[in-house]
Amino acid sequence: MVRPVIAGNWKMNKTVAEAIDFASRLRNALAAPPEPEVIIAPPFTALHTVAELLRGSPVCLAAQNLHESEKGAFTGEISGEMIREAGCAYVIIGHSERRTLFGEGDERIHRKLRTALSAGLKPILCIGETLQEREEGRMQNVVERQLKEGLNNLTAGDISRVLVAYEPVWAIGTGRTATPAQAEEVHRLIREWIAGRYGSEQAAEISILYGGSVTPKNIVDLMRQPDINGALVGGASLDVASFVQLVGYQTI
Ligand code: PEP
Repeated sequence: MVRPVIAGNWKMNKTVAEAIDFASRLRNALAAPPEPEVIIAPPFTALHTVAELLRGSPVCLAAQNLHESEKGAFTGEISGEMIREAGCAYVIIGHSERRTLFGEGDERIHRKLRTALSAGLKPILCIGETLQEREEGRMQNVVERQLKEGLNNLTAGDISRVLVAYEPVWAIGTGRTATPAQAEEVHRLIREWIAGRYGSEQAAEISILYGGSVTPKNIVDLMRQPDINGALVGGASLDVASFVQLVGYQTI
């Protein structure tokens, strides 16, 4: 049985002061350890402060991106080691906003994933098709290509540290969620692809999160699907009350 994961991606939101306020309230609200693994991904500037504040709490931290090199002349970039030292256990890689707005392709995403693993971080690999790709009947091709290129030649040990987030681009920040059946279809396909490549044991154990306009209203039906192990949440993770509801989805 895979432990459910509820992860909040803040994107470019919250100053350090706002992040402190959020993290303090979250810590108080989660006084009893919640059933899911809880992850928040603040912007780089708030990571260290939030990590200190959440030390000893059940909440884990993720960075939203990293550079694929270990160190060097890459002005404005952040390395895996810096992220881990700042207090992160996870890093989001290949978010569709990185792919579309910052031109990150599968090959670069794969290098980032390897760098994350070498830095001792658990990568959350985001994949998903655009509306056009779905309407042209290319969803499966796109998802399988992103998996193949992103997870290229990983060992069984590596894959056991990777999480996959299926985030259909047409559902991100649009208020248009995939139906539970649509999401389950793709999650099953992802698990079958992992089984074919890495074996059924790895496939059974990998966490496959759904992302795309998840809210306290739709999370319960999504989480009922057998191949949905958690949610990667953008907009609805910015408000503590709504995020706490998402974490406690079993009681909604
Ligand atoms: C995301 O950015 O990963 C995301 C799923 O955003 P939203 O929940 O706002 O659609």
